Amino acid sequence: MIKTDHTALDRRSLLVGLGALGLSTTLPRRAFAQEGPSPIVIKGAAIFDGTSEDLITGSDVRIENGMISAVGPDLSTEDAEIIDATGLTLTPGLTDAHTHIMWHDEIEELIYGSPHEYTGVMAAEGAHRMLMRGFTTVRDAGGPSFGLKKAIDAGVIAGPRILPSGFFISQTSGHGDFEPRMNYLSPYFTGQLDPAYLRGWTITGDGKAEVMKAAREALRYGASQIKIMGSGSITGAHDPLDVTEYTLEELQAIVGEAQKWGTYAKIHAYSDASVQNAITAGVRSVEHGLFASEESMQMMKDNDVFFSTQYLTYSVPADQTGLTGDALPKFIQAQEGATAGYERAKAFGLKVAWGTDILGTIDKGPSQSLEFVARTPYYTPREILMQATSGNAELFERSGLRHPYRDGPLGVVAPGAYADLLLVNGNPLDDISVLTTPDTSLALIMKGGIIHKTLL
Ligand SMILES: [Zn+2]
Repeated sequence: MIKTDHTALDRRSLLVGLGALGLSTTLPRRAFAQEGPSPIVIKGAAIFDGTSEDLITGSDVRIENGMISAVGPDLSTEDAEIIDATGLTLTPGLTDAHTHIMWHDEIEELIYGSPHEYTGVMAAEGAHRMLMRGFTTVRDAGGPSFGLKKAIDAGVIAGPRILPSGFFISQTSGHGDFEPRMNYLSPYFTGQLDPAYLRGWTITGDGKAEVMKAAREALRYGASQIKIMGSGSITGAHDPLDVTEYTLEELQAIVGEAQKWGTYAKIHAYSDASVQNAITAGVRSVEHGLFASEESMQMMKDNDVFFSTQYLTYSVPADQTGLTGDALPKFIQAQEGATAGYERAKAFGLKVAWGTDILGTIDKGPSQSLEFVARTPYYTPREILMQATSGNAELFERSGLRHPYRDGPLGVVAPGAYADLLLVNGNPLDDISVLTTPDTSLALIMKGGIIHKTLL
């Protein structure tokens, strides 16, 4: 303790000194890095390495400085803390390719009602709970998550790694145009500031110049990838589900901006025309996509586009969704198309992302884990676990130079990979439902070599 206090004091006085000299006080973090925790060796676990057909036995995993340094039999335990994981399954940390980690209220409340700090506090708690369900990385599909990411990455609060999208890019009347009033003129005509923009949720842009500016704005904030609203939606205030949003030219303009930054765009798209426009424009990840025709599925296959849909969302009985008004019939419409969409995606052998799109109050969070069983009519437990680990990690790699975590691979148990690991009571390759009860089934949760939970 005394040593830590001295270190803090030394650092403060040094910062004051630099300030007095007029020098930047933003110093590289490594300059003050404390000695990391001692290495850890996990012994005795059966390992799912992210891709293996079966569990691997007889190998230890050594963790140093937040990364996996070695995997193999009889690794050195010198200077290391030893974890005996006999009888447990070691897997990569789970990932979710479609979260809205800031979205813990009705969207109208988040934009026009609740105080900022309420949004932030709920999101911080939600992020911690998500980590406690075993999710160590998420691709956020829209919302002002940059500050939350910063606090998590700094180690101040516990939560998953975040690949943020930031603002939704939406046309006027599109899925991101959340303005609930009909008797209302858009900021474009009135010159008033748009609360959806001010609070980091949406940039409404129409035409090539506006959407390019919107994409550049999201990238300026630190978006890992760009999120486009490309079609009608279930919860949208104004757009029927069948509507195709944005022209091919507008989509190409957005994708072009993403590509100049070395990353890609993903798109919310239900209508078949919106899926086809998106793929033609170079979008790399189609969200939802349930009404994509066989022709569009073939385009996804030919262009190596990820099908990033959700399975749990559409399996909930309509009267249990909590949806009301226009949203309920739109949900039923989407649900009716869902099964055929899943079957087409399976038949075409598409790369399927693992994502949940869970929205709403914080008590909805545990549903995230139920996605594992919602996929069992279509995929084997191993396929589902691959989707949620190495498969999503491959999708995240499409962020290229905008990928925030580039020190090693995510989603695998391999030397050089991030030490984001779970120890599971039971074998998820036999019974994926063990992951739906994380409170009891996850014996250990490690992110970046730091143990966030242990029952051992
Ligand atoms: Zn979404």
